Amino acid sequence: MTNACVAREGQSSEFNRKPPVRHPYRGRFAPSPSGPLHFGSLIAALGSYLDARAADGEWLLRIEDVDAPRTVAGAAEDILGVLAALGFDWDGAPVWQSRRLERYRAALDALTAEDLVYPCACTRREIADSRLATAADGGLIYPGTCRQGLPRGRSARAWRLRVPEISVGFDDAIQGRVEQSLAREVGDFVLLRADGQFAYQLAVVVDDADAGITDVVRGADLLDSTPRQIWLQRCLGLPALRYAHLPVATNPAGEKWSKQTLAPALDAGLGVPLLARAMRFLGQAVPPDVVHESLPRFWDWAIAHWRMAAVPRQRVIMAPA
Ligand code: GLU
Repeated sequence: MTNACVAREGQSSEFNRKPPVRHPYRGRFAPSPSGPLHFGSLIAALGSYLDARAADGEWLLRIEDVDAPRTVAGAAEDILGVLAALGFDWDGAPVWQSRRLERYRAALDALTAEDLVYPCACTRREIADSRLATAADGGLIYPGTCRQGLPRGRSARAWRLRVPEISVGFDDAIQGRVEQSLAREVGDFVLLRADGQFAYQLAVVVDDADAGITDVVRGADLLDSTPRQIWLQRCLGLPALRYAHLPVATNPAGEKWSKQTLAPALDAGLGVPLLARAMRFLGQAVPPDVVHESLPRFWDWAIAHWRMAAVPRQRVIMAPA
């Protein structure tokens, strides 16, 4: 199968005609405002922040509220308040995905114009019943039912990106080499959902490119999404990024701390001892006296001593609440 994205790596496209402006280092933290900040999200905030500042880079914030049904009123403001109280210092104003829908639409239109996207009538139930294996991230592998056109009498629910039979790989600064066969392990994936919401995969790729992000440091729960995002970057003619996927904190049952697993909200009043605990989780040696420092002195110390090489090369680590 020919696929316009295969040969496009690093080249511009209809969607992206801008000559690339490469910042030396621009990182970001992109929380989803589906609940308050918890220890798991603090790890991603801290790792991305320290890596950016240790490289003399910029650090941007993005509120990932593209999934309107999952967005909780007031959660974003609460997250920003906790980050500020802990002394995180971001560059510029936070970007809100809910205000960028026309950019996602433009990306989808550009892909559609190249026949890389097609409408799909399948329900979740129908895909589950087709009994293909489950994808690594727990999602369903799409069997390609609507690839050649909608079945007679059915109408479009979602819009999917066609993926060819190739392997997409990258070198993660923590997790090492990652390779994924998109066709076999994911299948054609959704860019516009049946409920009319743009998919996270599309939004994050467009946002990172528009913001000039160079380095993505985030939780390893997103490791299996990265080949999809790299593929979308190629299809849209966007620059490639560097990736580092941090270990994810799990509860004693092995579940990622999240709102669903009842992760306790962070108490920003804990200040330095809380940040020191998160640093130790990331394999950084924190001397006992540093824990008694003021926030500004703690940050000076943490930025000067951050070592990506010390972060455990694991996808998950158990961390009691
Ligand atoms: N919004 C995602 C989350 O909270 C993070 C997305 C990303 O860092 O790419 O899990």
